[in-house]
Amino acid sequence: MKTERKIAGHIKQVTSVSNPIIKAIKGLQLKKNRDSDGLFVAEGLKLITDAIDNGWEISTLIYAKNIANQPHLQNIAVKSRANGTNLLEVSEKVLGSITRRDNPQLAVGVFRQKTTELSSVRAGDVDLWIGLDRVRDPGNLGTIIRTADCVGAKGVMLIGETTDPWSLEAVRATMGSIFNIVLVQCSQDEFLSWRGGWTGLVVATHLEGSTDYRAIDYDNKPVLVLMGNEQQGLPDNLVDICTHKALIPMAGQADSLNLAIATGIMVFEVKRSMLKIAGNKDGSGSDESH
Ligand code: SAM
Repeated sequence: MKTERKIAGHIKQVTSVSNPIIKAIKGLQLKKNRDSDGLFVAEGLKLITDAIDNGWEISTLIYAKNIANQPHLQNIAVKSRANGTNLLEVSEKVLGSITRRDNPQLAVGVFRQKTTELSSVRAGDVDLWIGLDRVRDPGNLGTIIRTADCVGAKGVMLIGETTDPWSLEAVRATMGSIFNIVLVQCSQDEFLSWRGGWTGLVVATHLEGSTDYRAIDYDNKPVLVLMGNEQQGLPDNLVDICTHKALIPMAGQADSLNLAIATGIMVFEVKRSMLKIAGNKDGSGSDESH
């Protein structure tokens, strides 16, 4: 059972970085506090608006005094207040202390974390899922969540001990996509027993893969792409439960691609035939009719 610390309060004007509510929000820089509160911090007015419009629960909205009269901010403030959100009008110094930045965004939201149970994930017609084995780097994780959103993936599964998706660094790297993508967190054992019920492809990406990733027929099938840990790659027991073992051929001296880049290359190949430039029937990129 999660215990709520004292972030809650009334609508306040705050100028001191040692104000107890600000201290509690700053405490969310630590994973143990994010875990116990079930909260996380996201920065930027546009991102906060999109999150609220997508139905995410915002517990506290913190904004710089000098944007208090902006219509955009006021719209969000009205919506947030109606939902019982705490509003804090603060100095830029206070905002900087929350986000650990010299030039902070002028609005910051404290949101409730949201994940989906693995047991509720089923292989829908052409769904694409990305499974990440023990991803360590918050920048990689955030970039992958953003890429998953860009390609139209259904969600991202975090398998085993991973970096925290709710850290400031990971959330920042998602550029708002954390609010658009379904996140699942599970142990390796949970994943292995769930896999039996998944009826689509499971494509392991592997430096010892024998299948060129472009040679697999992904069309009109549910696909789960499995990516390995940055240092160790995928363990054998995860490779063993895959339908395909794919390699992205390389030419230079480097041993491997960066995890987020490899994920991007894979998922855009999976969706290649489904992605078209808007307005073009053939996806050629040319609008000319002759
Ligand atoms: N030393 C690790 C190894 O031996 O697997 C390198 C891991 S690599 C940095 C992280 C992950 O990116 C890999 O586990 C794999 O999922 C993916 N990856 C990187 N380069 C790849 C390639 N050329 N083909 C397929 N997957 C690749």
